[in-house]
Amino acid sequence: MSKPETHEFQTEISQLLDLMINSLYSQKEIFLRELISNSSDAIDKRRFAALTDASLLTDDEELAVIITTDADAKTLTVSDNGIGMSRDEVIENIGTIARSGTRKFMQAIEDAKGKDDVNLIGQFGVGFYSVFMVADKVSLTSRKAGSDAAVLWESEGKGEYTLADASMDNAGTSITLHLCEDAGEFLDDFRLRHIVNKYSEHISLPIKMLGAAPLDDEGKPIEDAEREFETVNSGTAIWARSKSEVSDEEYQQFYQSLSYDPEPPLSTLHHKVEGNLEYTSLLFIPKKAPFDLWNRETRKGIKLYVRRIFIMDDAEHLMPNYLRFVKGVIDSADLPLNVSREILQSDRDIQKIKGRAVKRVLDELKRIAKDEPESYQSFWSEFGQVLKEGVVEDMANKDSITPLLRFASTHTDSSEQTVSLDDYTSRMPEDQEAIYFITAESYQAAKGSPHLEMFAKKDLEVLLLSDPVDEWLVNSLFEYEGKSLKSVAKGDLELTDDEKQAQEDQEKEMADLTAKLKDALGDAVKDVRLSLRLTESPACLVADSNDPGANLERIMKAMGQDAPESKPILELNPDHALIKKLDPAQGDFDDWAKVLFDQAALSEGAQIKDPAGYVKRINRLLAA
Ligand code: ADP
Repeated sequence: MSKPETHEFQTEISQLLDLMINSLYSQKEIFLRELISNSSDAIDKRRFAALTDASLLTDDEELAVIITTDADAKTLTVSDNGIGMSRDEVIENIGTIARSGTRKFMQAIEDAKGKDDVNLIGQFGVGFYSVFMVADKVSLTSRKAGSDAAVLWESEGKGEYTLADASMDNAGTSITLHLCEDAGEFLDDFRLRHIVNKYSEHISLPIKMLGAAPLDDEGKPIEDAEREFETVNSGTAIWARSKSEVSDEEYQQFYQSLSYDPEPPLSTLHHKVEGNLEYTSLLFIPKKAPFDLWNRETRKGIKLYVRRIFIMDDAEHLMPNYLRFVKGVIDSADLPLNVSREILQSDRDIQKIKGRAVKRVLDELKRIAKDEPESYQSFWSEFGQVLKEGVVEDMANKDSITPLLRFASTHTDSSEQTVSLDDYTSRMPEDQEAIYFITAESYQAAKGSPHLEMFAKKDLEVLLLSDPVDEWLVNSLFEYEGKSLKSVAKGDLELTDDEKQAQEDQEKEMADLTAKLKDALGDAVKDVRLSLRLTESPACLVADSNDPGANLERIMKAMGQDAPESKPILELNPDHALIKKLDPAQGDFDDWAKVLFDQAALSEGAQIKDPAGYVKRINRLLAA
């Protein structure tokens, strides 16, 4: 056998190990959950690989996870006959973390200082390293299915590890933990069984431990007799059992194993569908958003199985993006086992299964909104922004999603989004033509916008939209129950005949002023006109009906996209003292024009192009 080679861990791993060893003290037992879960994944992979290459799995081999201990050596070993790893894969998987998650994980651990946040470990996919919470040395031997070579990886978790050749009779991985002084509890058979029960009951593979020694005639254990392995979990897939046989606690544990969410789910939806298209779905709607809800690389929540055999994670074809927070399993009886992502995408049965799963989730949300408004409200504050994407993304279900939306409004006192479109339409005056909304960078900017002044005076409700996705939402949601959605910051206002007449009269009167202002502002504006929107502010900016509007342009720029820059219309409040006093003949008229324009932008929360110029002009006017 060749001499072991010493390798250094990637810096991040060393830091991570340091955190594991020094910062995480509680619930050390979860290392076992992580190891079993890795083994179970590895066995799933072997089974899957054997579908296309039968030589990778012989019929007489029972796939299982085996846990053994050695009290004298103070070691605990978890072995599996899963897919195994080649030497390169060991380096790649156990010595390097290519994932961007690591840094974030460490940040999260640091942020959570003092808090009991070990759930983060699983979420970030750094599970293996949790062994160093209980072991001061770890030896891993692995042999990849289909290869004869085995490798021994060893580390004390302190910056480096060694690799050496090894030999193993069968494919798989065996991990031996040399337990720390204070981790002796993990040698205890009873304690280990308890942990397996707690975390791995749902694992649909046998987890085996040595049974008790056989008894002699007098009923005493025979010391040196061979002990048999026995299965310590039930080993059946939870979703394959009938609903009435599964306890809430079991559902919750299974949910936790999928999500690492310490809280129970908001809803559990378990259905067996029979007939032409046979499948089982077990879906969970979480209460709390995971830290990485917005990370596009995050694995999606649905695992696909075919007749209990795991096929793939992250089956994006089973749940649309806007329901990416839904976790669960779909097990189809009809799909071919060698189904690929490409096939999934075009498979009609999968489309049907997905369609029904989406409907189940949306129906459940509708039910919660109706029966448990408070729960729905907290669901909305966690996932509302994501659900809003559905209106844009899923035309087929738009009508089911729209009533689930909640908004902030001028008719409520808080920034919390609590108003549904049904609430809105039920209290709108009969002659009101449209559902009014404003979009802005923040709730405060929306609420304080001068565009609302006339609406406030007329007591018309305006929805206050300030999530980035809202701009797309209102571009897809043209109407609700026959009422169109209309931005208060765009196009013309609906006016009564009297108002129109009054406006025309004033426009004639002040035509000279508006024309001169337009000259002074030049390229910055599309037009200058009088406004009936305003009661308190001197001026505001309005987008032309077909222009994207300032907020959308700002968001697109922030996303690094080209925003077609459209010019705003400056609207003046003819009754405001400042406007009344404006005189184009004044020497400082130019300053006034630009200050009015910049102030209009500022008052709706926008940025002004030349802040220094603005300050200079204000100072000149003040000094005068
Ligand atoms: P995660 O399981 O979340 O990917 P881990 O740190 O627990 O993160 O494991 C890293 C990788 O090491 C796994 O993705 C897998 O490829 C590999 N691995 C870990 N344990 C085993 C095992 N028992 N058999 C085969 N591969 C394994």
